[in-house]
Amino acid sequence: MDLSFTEEQEALRTMVRDFIKRETSKELDREIDETGRYPAELSAKMAAAGLFGIPFPEEYGGSGGGVFEFVILCEELAYGSEAASAAFLLPVFFAGEMLLLNGNDEQRSKWIPEIVSGKLRGCFALTEPEAGSDGANVQTFAEERDDCFVLNGNKIFISGADMADFIMAVTRTQRNPEKKYQGITIFMVDRKLPGVTVRDIPKLGGRAISLCEIIFDNVQVPKDMAIGGYPDGIGAGWGHMWASLDIERIMVAILYVAIAQKAFDEALEHAKTRVQFGQTIGHFQAVQHQLANMAIEIEAGRMLAYKAAWLKSQGKPCSLEGAMAKVYATEMALRVTTNAMQVFGGFGYTMECDVQRYVREALLGPVGMGTNHIQRTIIAKLLELF
Ligand SMILES: Cc1cc2nc3c(=O)[nH]c(=O)nc-3n(C[C@H](O)[C@H](O)[C@H](O)COP(=O)(O)OP(=O)(O)OC[C@H]3O[C@@H](n4cnc5c(N)ncnc54)[C@H](O)[C@@H]3O)c2cc1C
Repeated sequence: MDLSFTEEQEALRTMVRDFIKRETSKELDREIDETGRYPAELSAKMAAAGLFGIPFPEEYGGSGGGVFEFVILCEELAYGSEAASAAFLLPVFFAGEMLLLNGNDEQRSKWIPEIVSGKLRGCFALTEPEAGSDGANVQTFAEERDDCFVLNGNKIFISGADMADFIMAVTRTQRNPEKKYQGITIFMVDRKLPGVTVRDIPKLGGRAISLCEIIFDNVQVPKDMAIGGYPDGIGAGWGHMWASLDIERIMVAILYVAIAQKAFDEALEHAKTRVQFGQTIGHFQAVQHQLANMAIEIEAGRMLAYKAAWLKSQGKPCSLEGAMAKVYATEMALRVTTNAMQVFGGFGYTMECDVQRYVREALLGPVGMGTNHIQRTIIAKLLELF
């Protein structure tokens, strides 16, 4: 396994860092955390700088980056700016990746360039009140009529639905309880269609992207908006979701590594400057060991994520390593951010210290993107325990 980066990859890292330094700030992240607004102005700048195109092929206006270009981008954005990370990941990556992996030629050529240029944002809507970890239990029904599908149902905990131009809505097009993994179809639904209602649900962290409930009430969706086209995409939704799981787990892992790294770096700096008992607190072994443990764990998380990414870049199976990386990195980030809070003492618990924001972000890790309970079950299955 060779984890050295090419000159081009190092140049990409530098380019993203320069962008972050030039266009973002801690103040922006704090303001967005307070207001909970989506950083649309930053999104436009990121698109103009070509950042949105990195994971997409050149024929769709992207720069054709591979797995490691994507990993570098995620790591640098999440480390550098929560606002920039939010502007990229959900509306660009999730929606674009769904189209890239599962759209037909027409859908890819029409929509991906729009996403790359920042003109179009998407969100992904699977979860429902009765379909959380059991995602295949979706009840939102898309009934076929002569000229369209009519959607009725309720989605919950959908990130960014209020600022998305379209909703990748996971629906059921066949009522057949015995075959719940079949008969699932994903539609690209224009959020402004009559019958679509979106409601914000206040949440703890990651506030640049809101959390929403969506109600579909007799929403008429053109047939050719089924992902994969009509009729090929009908009933193919479960496979469409699985297609992107490996890269998503690698992405989540590296995002949480970056959040942990940020908390660690700030705690390290604090330990070098805060004086108690006549010396900096970094002179106390308790603090030294706490920081040393944090550094070890971050590096372990990064290596797990990089290994899964390397396997993927080689076209090798990486579901096991991806799930391991997701579990470890998200739980590690929670430990590291709360330990960083401890290093900051009383200040760490105040809203004036950025570390509290990192803790709030880290709290989502074990729950989001397939809970860690479910990931462990997947790991056990891949280890052929059952
Ligand atoms: C901030 C945030 C953003 C989100 N964004 C999106 C989004 O953009 N799109 C989207 O579709 N969804 C999104 N979700 C939903 C998220 O994917 C679900 O919350 C998650 O899948 C868990 O589902 P649930 O909340 O219904 O919990 P449940 O499935 O009810 O789980 C509750 C608990 O039971 C455990 N559990 C459940 N089943 C099992 C099992 N078989 N074995 C062991 N343990 C089990 C879970 O691990 C969990 O600890 C988001 C959630 C949050 C909080």
